[in-house]
Amino acid sequence: MNDEPLLIVVSGPGGVGKSTVVDVLIDRYPELWLSRSWTTRERRPSESEGAYIFVSEQEFIERIDADGFLEHAEFLGNHYGTPALEAPSGRDVILEIDVQGARQVLDRDPEALLIFLQAPDAAEQEVRLRRRGDPEHKVAQRLRKAAEEADAGQELGAVVITNNQIDDTVEAMWSAIEKARAGRGRNGL
Ligand code: 5GP
Repeated sequence: MNDEPLLIVVSGPGGVGKSTVVDVLIDRYPELWLSRSWTTRERRPSESEGAYIFVSEQEFIERIDADGFLEHAEFLGNHYGTPALEAPSGRDVILEIDVQGARQVLDRDPEALLIFLQAPDAAEQEVRLRRRGDPEHKVAQRLRKAAEEADAGQELGAVVITNNQIDDTVEAMWSAIEKARAGRGRNGL
């Protein structure tokens, strides 16, 4: 029996709809708790102020030095990190992070579940990235990065889910979570 929260890492390329899917998942299953990341990236106009804890490069480095991150990584020139966890007791934790972060989490906790979301097709992903309002060169960079991320996700043994239809995606994620819980001796098994 393992009473530590299950760490559920959700990775996937930009434009795959990760945050929308995660928002629905959290809403539907209140036993899950979403960790909020720190980033040095600027907030997008379309983004809520609570999407990240937006900090300066200096604040980020200070937190690294104070050993205040569970994991952190650089992604396309910006820092992103998961603060040391403060999950309410009894709730499992969702980390929406990139595959470099996923690797660090799995190194620390081999029982963590890694879910990799992929877009139904590259054209759809490109449409979603553009809709988000990123500048053109960023869209191109993120599309290149997407292919690398998919390879890394496979290599890390992720449960790969294609985000065709949001309800189906959320239910497939929930099944994977229940399976991972059962696998570590929870749910009375
Ligand atoms: P975006 O700039 O599109 O919000 O995020 C870029 C990438 O960084 C995405 O793959 C996102 O999942 C990832 N990311 C967000 N927060 C974190 C974090 O705390 N740690 C790591 N390693 N990646 C993160």
